[in-house]
Amino acid sequence: MDCLFCKITNRELNSDIILENDKFLVFKDIHPKADVHVLIVPKKHIDSVDHITEEDAKFLGDIFLTAKEAAKKLGVSQAYKLAINVGKDGGQEIDHLHMHLLAERKEVSDT
Ligand code: 5GP
Ligand code: ZN
Repeated sequence: MDCLFCKITNRELNSDIILENDKFLVFKDIHPKADVHVLIVPKKHIDSVDHITEEDAKFLGDIFLTAKEAAKKLGVSQAYKLAINVGKDGGQEIDHLHMHLLAERKEVSDT
């Protein structure tokens, strides 16, 4: 299957990896739309949320734990957004289910 995110999760293509566990790879979005913009991507290919099976649902809850861990590692705990686009008309460009984690870093004042 010619899937960009499958190629990234199985390391055929490079990405800027934030963290990895047995089910997910978290890497930086190539065109960030916020100070922090990473993608949480299941290693198993699933086209979209519309294609989740009962079997998939057993492990996909862990996407939230992985997001939480990534946010902590990126220093944005308690200040981020999670988003999943579903289908072309829902804004999904890559047909491999993924969650966006977006956050703005607070400005650091010298005073
Ligand atoms: P979607 O619109 O499908 O929800 O999000 C796809 C995201 O993947 C976009 O934010 C886009 O910038 C990102 N993206 C597309 N191609 C690549 C790539 O080759 N590497 C990385 N790291 N991100 C990509
Ligand atoms: Zn895939």
